[in-house]
Amino acid sequence: MDEQKVAKCIAILEKEYGVPEPKEIDPVDLLVMTILSQNTSDTNSLRAFALLKSTFAGYEEILAASDEAVADAIRAGGLAEIKARRIKEALVRIKQDAGAISLSFLADMGKEEAMQYLLSLPGVGPKTASVVLLFAFSMPFLPVDTHVYRLSQRLGLVAEDVKAEKAQPILERLVPTEKYLSLHLNLIKHGRLICRARGPKHEECALRSCCDYYLQGPKALNDSKNHPKSALL
Ligand code: SF4
Repeated sequence: MDEQKVAKCIAILEKEYGVPEPKEIDPVDLLVMTILSQNTSDTNSLRAFALLKSTFAGYEEILAASDEAVADAIRAGGLAEIKARRIKEALVRIKQDAGAISLSFLADMGKEEAMQYLLSLPGVGPKTASVVLLFAFSMPFLPVDTHVYRLSQRLGLVAEDVKAEKAQPILERLVPTEKYLSLHLNLIKHGRLICRARGPKHEECALRSCCDYYLQGPKALNDSKNHPKSALL
């Protein structure tokens, strides 16, 4: 039943936003981008990444630079000192382990081994590691960010009391692996445009017919404030 529901959600989202295509991307770039994206908006983190890349000629130069110089380059992304330290520590470890600043060796590992390696890097949690492995290596991980988590709960794919870090294996069991990338990206799009944390636009939402939050009333989630029927209660 849940598999049918998830298939319906995926189909609706693909009709709304299209089927996302995987793009070629350097895994180290992706790792650095996801570290920069922690606790800030996409706009700020993308700006910080662009500034980092334009300030330094490459990752070797970043490694040779002082923490302060790296922090100055990424200040647009917030938490600059912490993120600069994390990025440099991750680059040092990668260079020690691979002999160069490259993560291409992960392609020769099994998915769990590759995950454990990334988790061993400073500042890298399951979401960051899953993003790198899904997007750069097409490994079957379904990263759960704040949008994916919120929508999965509202749709009823993940129970309300399931913590964010426990949601990923539940979704990975429900969703066909070939749809991980599509569902991840389209839920993020939908979460930004329609199903926002505050003031979700139920009336404009194509997912209403499979949304527990919409169909079952406030008991579907504690957060009843924005429920369409809450005004009637
Ligand atoms: S119906 Fe409302 S709560 Fe459900 S997915 Fe759409 S916007 Fe979100």
